[in-house]
Amino acid sequence: MDINLINLSSSKPTKGEISTRVLILGSGPAGLSAALYAARADLDPIVLTGMELGGQVSLTHIVENYPGFPEGVGGNELVELFQKQAERFGTKLEFDTASEVDLSKRPFKVQTFNSTYLADTLIISTGATSRRLDIPGETELTGRGVSYCATCDGWFFKDKDLIIVGGGDSALEESIFLTRYANSVTIVHRRDELRAGPFLQNRTKSNPKIDFIWNSIVTEILGEEAVESVRLQDVVTKEERIYPIDGIFIFIGHIPNTQLFKDQLDMDELGYLKVDHLMKTNVAGVFAAGEVADSHFRQVITSAGMGAAAAIQANHYLDEISSNHS
Ligand code: NAP
Repeated sequence: MDINLINLSSSKPTKGEISTRVLILGSGPAGLSAALYAARADLDPIVLTGMELGGQVSLTHIVENYPGFPEGVGGNELVELFQKQAERFGTKLEFDTASEVDLSKRPFKVQTFNSTYLADTLIISTGATSRRLDIPGETELTGRGVSYCATCDGWFFKDKDLIIVGGGDSALEESIFLTRYANSVTIVHRRDELRAGPFLQNRTKSNPKIDFIWNSIVTEILGEEAVESVRLQDVVTKEERIYPIDGIFIFIGHIPNTQLFKDQLDMDELGYLKVDHLMKTNVAGVFAAGEVADSHFRQVITSAGMGAAAAIQANHYLDEISSNHS
């Protein structure tokens, strides 16, 4: 599907509708970098922040690989700096979330909880959400010992014994962070080899508070009022055992937030938006940036770069359609 539209903002906003040249969905590194570039191009962008200002990075304790911060920078602090810089050039942030989109004609229509937006270009940077294990006890005990965010909940586990599920960079990075509070941290991984990079692997393996349970999965989380234990299964021997624990943190990857665009934008088999090297989706005037369109790199710096590129292309697109129109 390739929809090419030539009329610039043909429909006039009616009462309660807000018109904008650039509407950015999401306020993570991609969204706020897109906003910075669009604002500096005098496009007065509006950012719908979504539920979490800053997205996933705002929940990260420390970011150690964003250039310019040799000592690392707090995730929240980085988001504040991104926001401040984007606002300095005229970005408007709305603490609102898109609930419906119509990309069939321009201006693109975005319905939020509070308003209706009409946008000449759209930059989608809605990010991704933590993947769940989908096992018995997980939903019931979330917030009562089951967590997906070490920065948010680590403090509640002072001197407690924790299980971490996952073998990627997130699981290891957050395990190291959790040793500040916890008595012990046991990483449960479904294979006997970690996915995480060697640097984090070395740091984790040399941490005296961290242990590993290999070739194992958690099949159930048990507890009345709060987590008391988990059921572990050895995937090789199929043996099961009950393992007493105070809390379980799950870091097993993410699911892109693209449900809103189903049947309107092309996606890959995992649900990530398909974009070309210019951040274009299959609908002319709709761009995507950051983890919503990137199942591979998912770094703050790559998301920020994609956001900047999307805004540059949105600007070109607006120039093109206005010169076609004149
Ligand atoms: P990830 O790399 O996709 O790793 C997910 C981990 O969870 C894998 O070890 C996977 O096991 C395991 N897993 C997946 N589904 C599972 C299930 N149902 N049950 C049990 N285990 C399951 O995700 P991530 O760690 O969130 O990292 C995402 C991206 O962000 C990566 O590109 C990563 O490099 C990046 N990142 C970088 C940093 C950093 O550079 N400091 C920090 C955090 C994240 P298998 O290995 O067997 O598939």
